[in-house]
Amino acid sequence: MIEDKNPKRTPLSELGEFKLIEHLTNHFKISHKSTVKGIGDDAAVLNYAKKQVVLSTDLLVEGVHFDLSYVPLKHLGYKAVMVNLSDVYAMNAMATQITVSIAVSNRFPLEALEELYAGISTAADLYNVDVIGGDTTSSTSGLIISITALGEVDEDDEVLRSGAKPNDLVVVSGDIGGAYMGLQILEREKEVFKVNPNNQPDLSMYTYIVERQLKPEARKDIVELLKKLEVKPTSMIDISDGLSSEVMHLCKQSNVGVDIYENKIPLDPQVISTCEEFNIDSTTVALNGGEDYELLMTISQEDYDKIKGNPNLTVIGYVTESERGMHLVTRAEEKIPIIAKGWNALKDLP
Ligand code: ADP
Ligand code: MG
Repeated sequence: MIEDKNPKRTPLSELGEFKLIEHLTNHFKISHKSTVKGIGDDAAVLNYAKKQVVLSTDLLVEGVHFDLSYVPLKHLGYKAVMVNLSDVYAMNAMATQITVSIAVSNRFPLEALEELYAGISTAADLYNVDVIGGDTTSSTSGLIISITALGEVDEDDEVLRSGAKPNDLVVVSGDIGGAYMGLQILEREKEVFKVNPNNQPDLSMYTYIVERQLKPEARKDIVELLKKLEVKPTSMIDISDGLSSEVMHLCKQSNVGVDIYENKIPLDPQVISTCEEFNIDSTTVALNGGEDYELLMTISQEDYDKIKGNPNLTVIGYVTESERGMHLVTRAEEKIPIIAKGWNALKDLP
C-alpha cells in the first residue's frame, strides 16, 4: 500500500554495527542543560540539579504494536517517540531526553532505518528532546523498538494518578476515538489492497482520523497551557488504552468513584461519520478505542473558571465517593457501570 519511494537498498551487513550507529546518530544535537554527555561514551551523563526526574519506557514489537504494511517507517519513528513523551507529560513534566534501542532483522536495508530515524529526529526536534543514547542489535523476526523518555518537573508541580478527590471535575484534552477509527480505515484499505494491489486507496475523507492513528501528537501544549492558566490537576493520566480503562486507573489509584456524561465526551465529526459508516457506536469507540494520547485529568472545582470555555479542555464528568462506583450517564440519563475494556478488547468488535 505504501509506495517504495526510495528503491535503494543497502544491506546492513555492508556497514557493521559501529558504522551503522554512527550513521544513524551523528546528526543529533544536544539542547538541554541537563544533558552533560549524550551519545558516544559508555553511558550518558545527566544533571537535573534540583528537579524531580521523570522516566518512562515503552516497547513496540512488529506484528503486535504496528503493521509495516500500512505504517510508513517515518511515522513509526515519530509515533514511538510520541508514545513515550505522552507518559512524561501525563506527570505534568517536561520531556528533556530520550534513548532509542532497536533490534532489526536483515530484511531491513539501511534506507529503512534512515526513514525510521528521520521520524525520530523530527519528533525530537519538534518537542525539543535530546537523543542521548540507545542500543542496536539484530533480531530474527522483524523490528523491535524501545524508547525511554526522561523529563523534569519541580517537586510541587508533579501530578500522580492518585490525587483525585470527590467533587473534582473530570477533564479531557482534545477529542477522542479518532485513532481507533483511523486504524479501522487503514485495516479496511489493507484488505482491499490485498485483493487488488492496483487499487490505491482514497483516504481524503478520513485525513483527520488516519493522521490521529499514524501521527499522534503528545500534548506538551496542554502541560504548558495548564501552567499558564495556573491550574495544577489533582490527578492525570494519558489516554493510551481508551477512556474507560484510564478513568478506572485514576479512580482505583485515587480511591474514588466517577460519573462520566456520555453527551459531554468530545468527538470529532469525522469520528461520528466514520462510526456511522462502520455501524459502530461512537461512545463505545471513545470509551474503548486507544492510542489517542490525549490527557485525562481531574481538577478542583475552584479551578473551573480558569478552564471554562477553553476549546482544548472539556469537562466530561465529576469525581464521587468511591462507594458510588464508576458510571457512564447516558444520553437517556441511564447510569451504566464503566468496565475495563482496553484497546485489546476492541479486536473482537466488528
Ligand atoms: P556499548 O557497546 O557500550 O553498548 P554501543 O556501541 O552500543 O556501546 O553504543 C555507542 C553509543 O551509541 C552509545 O552512546 C549508545 O548509547 C549509542 N547508541 C547505540 N545504539 C543507538 C541507537 N540505536 N540510537 C541512538 N543511540 C545509540
Ligand atoms: Mg550497545
